[in-house]
Amino acid sequence: MTRIRRKFWGWGTEDQIVPEGEATAVLAAAARRFGVDDLSGVPPPTEAEFALPAPRVRVPASLAHLVRDDIHERLVHAYGKSFADSVRMFARDVPHPPDLVAYPESPDDVARLLEWAGGARVAVVPFGGGSSVVGGVEPDVGPAYAGTVSLDLARLDRIRAVDTMSRAALMEGGLFGPALEAGLKPHGLTLRHFPQSFEFSTLGGWIATRSGGHFATRHTHIDDFVEALEVVTPAGRIETRRLPGSGAGPSPDRLFIGSEGALGIITAAWMRLQAAPRFRAAQAVRFRDFHAGAEAVRLILQAGLDPANCRLIDAEEARTAGAGDGTNALLVLAFESGHLDQAGRLAQALDLCRAAGGTWETVAGAEAHRAGAQGAWREAFIRAPYHREVLVPRGVIVDTFETAITWDRFAEFHADVTARVSRAIVEATGRPGGVTCRFTHAYPDGPAPYFTFQALGDRARVLDQWRQIKAAASDAVIAGGGTITHHHAVGRDHDPWYRVQRPSLVGAALSAAKAALDPVGILNPGVIADPPTGPVGTRGAMAAGPAPRV
Ligand SMILES: Cc1cc2nc3c(=O)[nH]c(=O)nc-3n(C[C@H](O)[C@H](O)[C@H](O)COP(=O)(O)OP(=O)(O)OC[C@H]3O[C@@H](n4cnc5c(N)ncnc54)[C@H](O)[C@@H]3O)c2cc1C
Repeated sequence: MTRIRRKFWGWGTEDQIVPEGEATAVLAAAARRFGVDDLSGVPPPTEAEFALPAPRVRVPASLAHLVRDDIHERLVHAYGKSFADSVRMFARDVPHPPDLVAYPESPDDVARLLEWAGGARVAVVPFGGGSSVVGGVEPDVGPAYAGTVSLDLARLDRIRAVDTMSRAALMEGGLFGPALEAGLKPHGLTLRHFPQSFEFSTLGGWIATRSGGHFATRHTHIDDFVEALEVVTPAGRIETRRLPGSGAGPSPDRLFIGSEGALGIITAAWMRLQAAPRFRAAQAVRFRDFHAGAEAVRLILQAGLDPANCRLIDAEEARTAGAGDGTNALLVLAFESGHLDQAGRLAQALDLCRAAGGTWETVAGAEAHRAGAQGAWREAFIRAPYHREVLVPRGVIVDTFETAITWDRFAEFHADVTARVSRAIVEATGRPGGVTCRFTHAYPDGPAPYFTFQALGDRARVLDQWRQIKAAASDAVIAGGGTITHHHAVGRDHDPWYRVQRPSLVGAALSAAKAALDPVGILNPGVIADPPTGPVGTRGAMAAGPAPRV
């Protein structure tokens, strides 16, 4: 691998350590927030501090050139990038590393690896960028398997074809965000799918998790951009037809979109593209409170204006990001187009904001979306994933959860979730913390609220404290009628709540699909669908499951 090595214990690459001045500021803000003088911690782990068990399985000689088993590779592929993953890395606690890490170079390699794994009863956990925050890539599969292989798609990273007339491209599943966009740029095209994890996540991972990206409205998930898929399953290969639309039965693409590695390996996809935007119009609008801002978002969406960005941020979250003084909610509004001037659409949206009590100071120019409060919030948003390496080793709990709910239930839902999570923080840690909310995406019939919670834990038991809070949050979301995830996916962490949310017959149908595509049940056991042998996994992260209330 020529790429700079990824940190196995944090976000980014090994050269991207949070600079000392920035770390000091982050810690000072946390100390102020929790009213403590000193937040001491432990240094990041080194590879030498881990004694991983020897790999339990070996591949045949014909596949050996595709496989690694050195400690760095096994650690990078042991966890995703959730708060719990960080805590366990800083605790030097890795009970389920993959035995092997495989880097297939072609769909044929994938098929041969799956064939071997099926015969040897080895669980295969597909791995894109490993940015899962829901335990999606953790090889914790229980005792029914002879071993585990993390199947890293990074070498399937080509753009195979570009169709400029239809504006689509056939791209491989292991392409990371920056390489994908760089490859499309010479054609004047873009996918414009920018999840916060863009730099360290892949096309295949986005499709497998139904990732939510750049567009806050209309095309919120990656789903709508998938034109056709190439999938390798243990039972054989599937290539769906390139079509702009089809009414021929349930969509085969939709079976794999969101299948989280449990039904097949997405080796390539034809993706619908767009022209790079040339016209932009943006404005930050302040509201007296979150609910006044929510009313403006509802009016904008129901008027069919579909802004590319429509991020409503509550007053406290705006303050924390340096984008306000804590008295007003902030709506970051932006329109964009490759073809048409957007000033008129922005003006129409601002009329609706005014009707809902919004006020603003105009920042002119093409870079308006990067200036003022919008710019401050954007910068804080980009740096936030790195700050975890400063906060986690000091017992500070900072995590997020996201959902969606219809407008008619939103106000009550928001109040109830906030109250229950605030209460859970006090119960778990003995002191108050913070719960804030923003909208990441919005629809004519409801928003996708994204909550952030912060608490000061006790380093020795911070994982249990986090579990208690996360379980309360998930209980509250499901009890209030929301979804356990709008775009972060289900993984192993959300599975108990997903099972409550999902109609049981749909669960049975998914298991039947899995039995057809993955008859031995080797693909990502414990995620989305039960293998033919029944539920598996030893995972304790969310073992308690939801309260039996629904
Ligand atoms: C800091 C941070 C910010 C984030 N921001 C966002 C955001 O804005 N929007 C969002 O939606 N999510 C976000 N996430 C979550 C995560 O980035 C997404 O779920 C992303 O789509 C995962 O892509 P990945 O390539 O890293 O996949 P991985 O994490 O490697 O895998 C995710 C799941 O997909 C499966 N999988 C991966 N590749 C394939 C494949 N080729 N075929 C079949 N299955 C596969 C894996 O087995 C696993 O179950 C964020 C995460 C972090 C840490």
